[in-house]
Amino acid sequence: MDYHLHTKFCKHADGEIHEYVRRAIAVGLDEIGFSDHTPMPEWYDPDFRMELHQLGEYIEMVRNVQKGYPQIKIKLGLEADFFPGTESFVKKIIRKYDFDYIIGSIHYIGQWGFDNKANIEEYKRRDIYEVYTQYFELVKKLARSGLFDILGHPDVIKKFGFYPDQDYSKLIKEALLEVKKANMVIEVNTSGLRKPCGEIYPSRMFLTIAKRMGIPITFGSDAHKPADTGRDFDKAVALVKEVGYDKVVVFNKRKQEFVKI
Ligand code: ZN
Ligand code: FE
Ligand code: FE
Ligand code: ZN
Repeated sequence: MDYHLHTKFCKHADGEIHEYVRRAIAVGLDEIGFSDHTPMPEWYDPDFRMELHQLGEYIEMVRNVQKGYPQIKIKLGLEADFFPGTESFVKKIIRKYDFDYIIGSIHYIGQWGFDNKANIEEYKRRDIYEVYTQYFELVKKLARSGLFDILGHPDVIKKFGFYPDQDYSKLIKEALLEVKKANMVIEVNTSGLRKPCGEIYPSRMFLTIAKRMGIPITFGSDAHKPADTGRDFDKAVALVKEVGYDKVVVFNKRKQEFVKI
């Protein structure tokens, strides 16, 4: 399965939706889900997401491929940003439609869009352990908000290859405690392999802790073009099996069900 696919609606992805679907079928996926970037209040990162008035059109587009390609399961999802203060806006969107799952992702620490390569310099100005602490504090808040089903690219803070000198496993454990309490799932996202960190999100260390805590997983490629659909899933499956996972979660109307890998 690949639960993290974007579409043209977010203004920074290429290809037609049917090309993603055909690619998924071609690479042998049983199930996919579209999870484009949600609309947010207009002051928040407007260049990287659909407009509020386009939400209905996005949903209709997904419904159309669901009908057009009965040979593959296609789920309706969203990748929603978690940013303190926007919860009620996001909640309204989530409640309005019948989504199968909502991925919650963090892309900002305060005003700093830390996963945007235009803002890399900021890593050199900051203490990296402090940056990780702030990131994982946001993960806790994301989980406590109760809005989301899946934690997207769980350690995306490593995207550009900046790692703390100290052991930061304690930050991960504390954050995952909240994820567990919220009955959430974490995403194994292969897009990190295509980024400077060169590593799946999350790391083996992170995944080992999650497994020990009994936190389930989904898979996602974070494709922003059809060719990346299901990309590097052989590596993702190998990693999760090494860590001890033998099941993934699939979502139907925000209910979890376990499926053997
Ligand atoms: Zn994107
Ligand atoms: Fe994201
Ligand atoms: Fe994404
Ligand atoms: Zn993403």
